[in-house]
Amino acid sequence: LLTATGIHLSFGENHVLRGVDLSVRRGEVVALIGPSGSGKTTLLRSLNGLATPDAGRIVVDGGPGEHVDLTFDGGPRRAWGRAGRRALAERESLRDRSAMVFQHHHLFPHLTVLQNVVEGPVQTRGVPRAEAESRALELLDRVGLADKRDAYPRELSGGQQQRVGIVRALALQPDLLLFDEPTSSLDPELVGEVLTVMKELADEGWTMVVVTHELEFARAVADEVLFLDGGVVVERGAPAQMFSAPRRARTREFLHRIL
Ligand code: ATP
Repeated sequence: LLTATGIHLSFGENHVLRGVDLSVRRGEVVALIGPSGSGKTTLLRSLNGLATPDAGRIVVDGGPGEHVDLTFDGGPRRAWGRAGRRALAERESLRDRSAMVFQHHHLFPHLTVLQNVVEGPVQTRGVPRAEAESRALELLDRVGLADKRDAYPRELSGGQQQRVGIVRALALQPDLLLFDEPTSSLDPELVGEVLTVMKELADEGWTMVVVTHELEFARAVADEVLFLDGGVVVERGAPAQMFSAPRRARTREFLHRIL
């Protein structure tokens, strides 16, 4: 479904991604692990057009009329001139293929749960409001939050807020779901309910890329784990192999530290 090759990205002098390759097949779950600052979030943001790589290529095969093929060559990042406008349009097409669940839920505080879920499809995908609402209610029901439709985010627990964040991403009907440490800001007793929803989505066949420190979750759910350190993929493999018999010393050190 998605193939990223040779992704480089710098913030000024800070060369954060140094030639990363990643591919995700439809229905597959890829877990990204690695120390703080290794570039996991930046990689995820590159996959959905929130960050623009300096070099590399991203191809998304979303079906007829939805093929995205972006080559980054340090060209225009701003929307001036024809090339700039084209670059921007391509980046938007990349963003349309995926939806992201953030570390902090980023819900609008002044909107109810239902409004938070409905705004994206209505504003960015042009879905009629009535249709967006009925789909939103269905999704809220699935994660056990239908009765919270008229609540405001501050009236929900952290785990409930994060589940609304997931529903908001699902409501965009993306090909690819991107999760950026969705449980790392939660109290330990709330982590399980969010991971349960994520596991159900994986079982339903959603294609997911998940940045996580929850190794048990990665072991149970991921088809492939990538260990990122210093902006490169140090090791990749099936979770069973990676966690019980890592091949690289850096992977072993990292796993020892967090297990
Ligand atoms: P964490 O697990 O702590 O979230 P991470 O592996 O996701 O870390 P990134 O958030 O991708 O790492 O950050 C990688 C590096 O890029 C860090 O050195 C960070 O300071 C830098 N960085 C990230 N975003 C920006 C930005 N918008 N502007 C400048 N530097 C940035």
